[in-house]
Amino acid sequence: MAFAGKVSLVTGGARGIGKAVSKRCHDLGADVAIFGRNIEAAQAFAAELGASGSRAKAYGCDVTDGKRLDAAIEEVLKDFGKIDVLVNNAGITQDGLLMRMTDEAWLKVLDTNLTGVFRTMRAVSRPMLKARSGAIVNIGSVVGLIGNAGQANYCAAKAGLIGLTQSAAREFGPRGVRVNAVAPGLIETDMTSAMTEDQKKQLTGSLPLGRAGKPEDVASAVCFLAGEDSAYITGQVLVVDGGMVM
Ligand code: NAP
Repeated sequence: MAFAGKVSLVTGGARGIGKAVSKRCHDLGADVAIFGRNIEAAQAFAAELGASGSRAKAYGCDVTDGKRLDAAIEEVLKDFGKIDVLVNNAGITQDGLLMRMTDEAWLKVLDTNLTGVFRTMRAVSRPMLKARSGAIVNIGSVVGLIGNAGQANYCAAKAGLIGLTQSAAREFGPRGVRVNAVAPGLIETDMTSAMTEDQKKQLTGSLPLGRAGKPEDVASAVCFLAGEDSAYITGQVLVVDGGMVM
């Protein structure tokens, strides 16, 4: 119960990687605030989690809606009294070749995957810095390190997320708040479900670990960076990719 007495906030916390992170935080004893656009799904998951152990509560919140985001974070502070761990997980893809990419597709992905993280960190940093304690984990991607054809918007957002993580680590470190990122490789979720089995086999066949990752593989790394075992680690990007990028 390494997270007993802690409060974790997970954006996009009711599906895919975010769901595994919410569950792992809860299993470790934390109260969990689950942010999602789909409030019914988030409420159902929170009820499932909250049926045993610590508390879990869902908040309808789109990270591209700054006003709602600030209000939802205020609600969490009212409900739970503090936020110890923030996991910025919400993310989307809208793929296409750069020469044909519309402004809308570019801006939507940047707004969700980068500006959404900035907005959430800005709002949560106030109570964390005041408390002089906290851990933030941002979910990036290996393609933020190496790029990917057909994902210029997504890769730019994920690369930007690393600069954002490192800058915040420098700003917040002196006040006891650590900021790190996790960069997953190919993980089996809705986001990657459109890939054919052949495409997945081709990608995973060349990996040293020979398989796609599970959301739980990412959750383990997130909870390591969010917990006391990583007390002297900040500003880092932990790659969770079965050896894809090295
Ligand atoms: P997913 O299954 O498609 O889930 C995406 C999550 O993000 C959902 O919980 C969704 O919430 C939430 N979300 C999307 N847009 C949002 C918005 N505007 N406001 C609030 N929540 C929003 O994807 P995933 O694979 O779990 O991805 C999670 C994170 O990991 C993303 O940042 C992604 O870029 C990153 N990642 C994934 C992979 C992979 O292979 N799967 C690899 C590298 C990085 P709703 O349920 O409410 O829609």
